[in-house]
Amino acid sequence: GSLPSPERVKALLEEAHDRYRDLDDGAVADYIPSLGRADPGLFGLSICGVRGQSASTGDAALRFSIQSISKVFVFALVCHALGHAEVSRRVGVNNTGLPFNSVMAIELSDGDPRNPLVNAGAITTTGLAPGATAAEKWTFIQDGLSRFAGHPLELDDEVYASEAATNQRNMAIARLLQSYGRIDVDPIETTDVYTKQCSLLVSTEDLAVMAATLANGGTNPVTREQVIDAAVCRDTLAVMATSGLYEFSGDWLFEVGVPGKSGVSGGIITVAPGKGGLGTFSPRLDPAGNSVRGQRAARFLSHALGLDVFASK
Ligand code: GLN
Repeated sequence: GSLPSPERVKALLEEAHDRYRDLDDGAVADYIPSLGRADPGLFGLSICGVRGQSASTGDAALRFSIQSISKVFVFALVCHALGHAEVSRRVGVNNTGLPFNSVMAIELSDGDPRNPLVNAGAITTTGLAPGATAAEKWTFIQDGLSRFAGHPLELDDEVYASEAATNQRNMAIARLLQSYGRIDVDPIETTDVYTKQCSLLVSTEDLAVMAATLANGGTNPVTREQVIDAAVCRDTLAVMATSGLYEFSGDWLFEVGVPGKSGVSGGIITVAPGKGGLGTFSPRLDPAGNSVRGQRAARFLSHALGLDVFASK
């Protein structure tokens, strides 16, 4: 199956925007000071199909920091570099059922980072990126995420400075992982690279192309570049399905029926394998840190576009 006609896709995106634009449940993240200044009314939706066909509505060109959505792409790149067995051994692929920045999740499992989509596993994954120094790892990550997007992604200096000044908890997580022997690079430098990857600027148009690359066996449908191979793509989607929306990952899969990943600035990617990717942005979050309007729009569009991988017809 593929997506409906471009006219139908555009009409459904607009319908999703109309349906949820006035929904004001949830709250903008403020534990990173600069994120707390986001306009809660922003709402953008973009879709990109596996043949590169795209449509957008609302605040789709506006840029925001990618935050935890970066974890998916860093995992994919590191999985591509190290292989399936090594990342599953060193990072793990099981849901924690606990918040994304949980220290208890690490303690309950004798130092296991659990999965690449919570902070402990993401920082571990960033530390595994190819490169002899933190600077080389950063270059690998920034270049790699840019290839998913199809153009160079820039750092939001203000978000980066704001989070770098307040990320004591992530540094503590990295130190704790080091104490368990789970990180063998410098934990503070690695946390800094992780903070930078979270501060890369994207629009929903970018997120849709990045998601569509994952829907398309790792080939960017716009640039035609093969960013990762199809087996790594499949591994990445499996982890997103179990852990993409933190402790609400089960609710997400039950309601939307395809892999997704959220970030605390308000972005979400939704990936329909073999069909396309959706990028959404709206800053008000549920208690786990997932965009409220983004989840509703993804559920509506998944049903309306026939994306659900569990639906027999
Ligand atoms: N940079 C944020 C953090 O580490 C990302 C969290 C998120 O998007 N859930 O806390």
